[in-house]
Parts: sequence; structure tokens; C-alpha cells
Amino acid sequence: MKIIMLGAPGAGKGTQAKMIAQSYKLPHISTGDIFRANIKEGTDLGKEAKTYMDEGKLVPDELTVRILLDRVAKGDCKDGYVLDGFPRTIPQAEVLEKELEKLGDKVDYAINVDVPDENIINRMSGRRACLKCGATYHIKHVPPKKEGICDVCGSELVLRDDDKPETVKKRLDVYHEQTQPLIEFYTKRDVLKTVNGNADPKDVFAAIKEILD
Ligand code: ADP
Ligand code: ADP
Ligand code: ZN
Repeated sequence: MKIIMLGAPGAGKGTQAKMIAQSYKLPHISTGDIFRANIKEGTDLGKEAKTYMDEGKLVPDELTVRILLDRVAKGDCKDGYVLDGFPRTIPQAEVLEKELEKLGDKVDYAINVDVPDENIINRMSGRRACLKCGATYHIKHVPPKKEGICDVCGSELVLRDDDKPETVKKRLDVYHEQTQPLIEFYTKRDVLKTVNGNADPKDVFAAIKEILD
């Protein structure tokens, strides 16, 4: 099963993608996590990606597509995957479609996690991320067991540089301009499913399960 997650920054794509991955035994692939891991390691890719990410802009398609195609070519992806944060532009979606076509394959579900813009800024300022293992928390809605510490790996949690309110506003604009058109793209392919993301995470997941089962 090949699933992609759509939705504004902070809509809960990552939270849901992890639950899907665990429940359906699929790899969870987040382009944002791949970029952040590279930034942490100080690679050239990380250095380039950071200049865009810090400004709330998208990393150029060419670079992003290369990273993603490398990742999905790995053995663990042969029976499917959950893509979280890719595609984010029409050209990215077109490349993915072409690559899958070569294999006689296609995206099975595009799950659109819908949350109004008003709720996004609050969610992002409360988000805390573990840069070591990619786990995400929310100080109010999804708190870690011990304040400031990752439940999974014990590392320190941080407010991402790009989750500060000024950058979030910019990211929302970028979302509406460049990513939202994917809703129509996948509607035309008859794979779009929208869920209300403005509910408790486990209720959002129940709605997704209903679609996938
Ligand atoms: P969020 O969890 O808020 O949706 P991500 O972790 O998915 O954010 O992405 C963080 C940043 O990484 C984006 O703002 C963008 O700069 C970059 N990025 C991630 N995925 C892509 C992509 N598919 N295309 C371009 N840039 C991307
Ligand atoms: P995305 O990957 O779309 O950027 P995340 O999954 O990282 O979004 O979620 C953004 C923030 O909102 C995180 O702090 C997360 O813990 C929190 N969150 C996720 N889902 C919900 C929800 N259904 N209700 C409230 N907060 C949520
Ligand atoms: Zn961790």
C-alpha cells in the first residue's frame, strides 16, 4: 500500500503517518526528517536544505525529488510506504507518478488531514521535536512523560527553528500557494480522502483506519 499524507504544516501528518506505519507495518518516510538528520550531521545536503527551511520556503524540487527517489528505492519500500511531507508541489507529484508508472504502480491513498489555519500557529508553537529519533510531541495535547525529554530515546526535545510564529505564517502561505493544489491533483486521480484533523489524534487515526481497512 502506497499512502501519501497531505495537509498544512502542523496538521498532524507526522503524528498520523507514524500511527499508520506502525499499524500497517509500512516504512514512514518524512522528507523533513531526512533534511533535519542531514542538518544535524552537517552534510552538504543539510547545509543547502537549511537555507530554505529556516526561511519557511520549500527546498527546491530537484534536490527533494532526488532524496525521495533514493529512499523509496530501498528494499524496505517494495511493499509500500507512508510518505509524510512529500509531494509538496505539483512537479514533485508528477515525478512520483511517472516513477510509479514505470513499475506499473500508483499511489493508493492521498490522505488530506484538514485543520483550519487558525489552529495551526498554536499547534506549532507547542510542538516539541526530538531531532535524534524524529518523535514529535505537543506541550499541551501530546506531552512527553517527562517534560523536555523524548519518551522514545531519552534525548532533549526542542522547538524547531522553523516553528517560530513568523516562520509558521510564511510556511502557511507557501502551503496554500504550492501544496494545496495537490488536493485537486489527487481528487482527479480518485485517491483523495479527507479527514478532520481538528480532533483528538486517536479519533483522527480511527477515521483513517476506516478508509484503509
Ligand atoms: P511539517 O512537519 O511542519 O509539515 P516538515 O518536517 O515536513 O514540516 O518539513 C520541514 C521543512 O522541510 C519544510 O518547511 C521545507 O522547507 C522542507 N521540506 C520537507 N519536505 C519537502 C518537500 N517535499 N519539498 C520541499 N521542501 C520540503
Ligand atoms: P505535521 O507533520 O503535519 O507538521 P505533526 O504531526 O508534527 O504535524 O503535529 C503538529 C503538532 O500538533 C505536534 O506538536 C503534535 O504533537 C500536535 N498534534 C498532532 N495531532 C494533533 C491533534 N489531532 N490534536 C492536537 N494536537 C495534535
Ligand atoms: Zn527521540
